[in-house]
Amino acid sequence: MAYETENIWQNISPEEEKEIQDFAKDYAEFMDENRTEREFIRSTVEKLQQEGFVDLAEVNNLEEGSKVYTTNQEGALLAAIIGQEPLSQGLNLVGAHVDAPRIDLKPRPLFAEKELGFFTTHYYGGIRKYQWVTLPLALHGVVVKEDGSKINIAVGMEAEDPVFYITDLLPHFAAEQREKKLKEAIKAEQLNVLVGSRPADDDEETEENNSDKDKDLASVKKALLQLIEERHGITEEDLISAELQLVPAQKSRDVGLDNTLIGSYAHDDRICSYTALRALTSMETGSKTAAIILVDREEVGSMGTTGMQSRFFENVLARLIAKSSSDYNDLMLREALENSTALSGDVTAGFDPDFAEIASKNNTPYLNHGINMTPYTGARGKGGASEASAEFRSKIRRIWNNNGVAWQATEMGEVDKGGGGTIAKFLANYNISVLDCGPAVLSMHSPFEIASKADLYHTYLAYKSYLEN
Ligand code: MN
Ligand code: MN
Repeated sequence: MAYETENIWQNISPEEEKEIQDFAKDYAEFMDENRTEREFIRSTVEKLQQEGFVDLAEVNNLEEGSKVYTTNQEGALLAAIIGQEPLSQGLNLVGAHVDAPRIDLKPRPLFAEKELGFFTTHYYGGIRKYQWVTLPLALHGVVVKEDGSKINIAVGMEAEDPVFYITDLLPHFAAEQREKKLKEAIKAEQLNVLVGSRPADDDEETEENNSDKDKDLASVKKALLQLIEERHGITEEDLISAELQLVPAQKSRDVGLDNTLIGSYAHDDRICSYTALRALTSMETGSKTAAIILVDREEVGSMGTTGMQSRFFENVLARLIAKSSSDYNDLMLREALENSTALSGDVTAGFDPDFAEIASKNNTPYLNHGINMTPYTGARGKGGASEASAEFRSKIRRIWNNNGVAWQATEMGEVDKGGGGTIAKFLANYNISVLDCGPAVLSMHSPFEIASKADLYHTYLAYKSYLEN
């Protein structure tokens, strides 16, 4: 009669253990190869193509079993397997976000001061600034030159690559800093990234144009610009039309002695994006059309063309309907939206005994207890969130129970202490029934987050069983 959840590892079969460990290895590899939104979307497309999905633009007529994908500026993606029922009957949709907190370069990033060269930065999303200093960082992104050609940058993940670095104060002189509030100890404008220290060799130009006082300062920047031009063909003005980000250079690792935990940058929310991708590519054609949508910009409010608030999803759905029937009209799109349901895949805060005071009494997410069914997110009285209906929760619970999914019903933390948001409410705006669900993580938004391999695998099972039913 009582509702209780179990630790997945306890009494686990050797077969399931192997499936979990294999899945976690694939995941870790994917995470290490894809550090930015664009990289993640590009690799997702590759994986979809390998599994027989084709670009929607190349298909004129969709029929039962058609597998298609489409992307939006390398920031968002929708992939679908057309089901037996007409699209006006709605989709089974899993949505997740591919962006993660990080440190972006400003439009004019490069400067030198006292013979040290830096990139100045503007952080993206909810970072705790003190966690991002004195770490090896990788520089990833894209530079688009004036002629429209694109240069992909990825420096710092390979063993032979250099890394980048934000300094901190030595403890010997940190007496004043120590007394500051945690949020003020490292300021946003101090997140300058060390990129070099070699001055340019003297030449006539520098002799003539620089006063003695400015010479050294200017010459480190000059040398760096020369080097960037030589190595990448990029000028200082090119950096203005660029999206360059600093991400942790630390690869994913097993954490602890017993092979249960995996540490990685950006579990939030690539763990849900990856499991959604694997769920779609391993399922059979269902009665409903199954789809996944991966979006950018959740960490800053889901605004922008590639965020969940964009019309991208609606436009793609319209295109899917138009390519599945000869008589497209707007009502078919409205009906397809209204008849759809969705899982909003996102992580939640796992119980951490060191910070037990934020846990929600009797409703705490535990690592290794499976995917979390989180009816609502929001903060302080469910503020700013949608909420899944009892009927929809019942349906999902039935599907998961029938398919051996380990799951737990939880909320993120103590009611008046904080909260969070996801893309769920933007899906709900379409009148789509939507439920938040994803694995718990520790140290969310830090450069190295902790998740459970068992939860990772059961998140995949949860998405797959939902898409199929
Ligand atoms: Mn998230
Ligand atoms: Mn987040």
